[in-house]
Amino acid sequence: MIRLIILGAPGSGKGSQCKWIKEDYNVPHISTGDILRKNIAEETKLGIKAKSFIDKGELVPDELVIDLLKNRLEENDCKERGFLLDGFPRTLSQAEALDEYLNEKGISIDKVINLHVPDEEIMVRAINRRTCENPECKEIYHLVYNPPKVDGVCDKCGSKLFTRKDDNEETVRNRLHVYHEQTEPLIKYYTEKGILATVIGQEKFEDTVALVKAVL
Ligand code: ADP
Ligand code: ZN
Repeated sequence: MIRLIILGAPGSGKGSQCKWIKEDYNVPHISTGDILRKNIAEETKLGIKAKSFIDKGELVPDELVIDLLKNRLEENDCKERGFLLDGFPRTLSQAEALDEYLNEKGISIDKVINLHVPDEEIMVRAINRRTCENPECKEIYHLVYNPPKVDGVCDKCGSKLFTRKDDNEETVRNRLHVYHEQTEPLIKYYTEKGILATVIGQEKFEDTVALVKAVL
């Protein structure tokens, strides 16, 4: 049982780190971005509300994501094995709502990993990112550093790769701005709680893995 949060700017490589952490620690990986995108694809009420914000690179309103997250944490896998939060919290009020929820349950977060990558590096990465459309797979490729063997096709499952609508230059720039304004204050928040560890994201995936392992 472990309860983790991974913080990092959009495109910092959080998602890729989460993939091995969830396997190694047998912990449910909860990405609010993935849950929101699934709701958009299924055209749920939540999805319809969230879509316009996501497409512009803005944050979805706190009350929507807080509810969504609390519902997810109520599921059995989280009760039994904990959680790895990816993309939540993203604002101070989300962090406070999470703390309040955990306090009520008498549980706490073990560690917050702050994955740091410079903005310029993130811009290059996001524009080159391709994601597997298979929701069971979601493998991430980089056209330069980690290209698929066949253009546009996932090596792992053969599904099509796509470019997320929010992975274009203007939207990425906006998401970075939003990150600095709204999410970066969480670094101080969790540092003061004594549970934050910063890892500098490396160019090579394996190098970052080694650094994350060292802090976990
Ligand atoms: P990235 O980390 O690359 O930005 P995510 O998949 O985490 O991608 O999120 C995509 C989008 O979903 C965000 O830009 C935002 O609009 C929305 N989103 C995800 N998580 C949250 C959250 N905790 N609070 C508000 N909006 C969120
Ligand atoms: Zn795939």
